[in-house]
Amino acid sequence: MRESGAFLLGREIGGKREVLKYALYDDLEPGCLDSGYVSFSSAGYRELWKLLKETGLEVVADVHTHPAEAFFSGTDRTNPMMPTAGHLAFVIADYAQGTVRPNDVAFYRYLGNHEWREDKPGSSAKKLYVGLWS
Ligand SMILES: [Zn+2]
Repeated sequence: MRESGAFLLGREIGGKREVLKYALYDDLEPGCLDSGYVSFSSAGYRELWKLLKETGLEVVADVHTHPAEAFFSGTDRTNPMMPTAGHLAFVIADYAQGTVRPNDVAFYRYLGNHEWREDKPGSSAKKLYVGLWS
């Protein structure tokens, strides 16, 4: 119905990132989606830091939805949710309605200095695994 998103929390093990929990943007900062896009402020980050401290987890990626295609907008490129080189960000088309599979996800790795490496939907499936591992 509108853009939304979440931080994916977990840990990195042997170079692989495992998601164990998610934190929805509007749970961390109620009202941050009211404009129709994600407008996340320092108030939301304060709640995120608190959650990370409580759980002992780290942000391993973020994900947000778009109304139509899965791609990084200019705003996405210049406003990383976590401005740390190596951060991963995923975009899901059609507001993530229906069944979302790994090959539906646009996959971005932050390189720093507002530059990203992109894997378009389809090729991203080689890098995403959904299921249990141990
Ligand atoms: Zn976006």
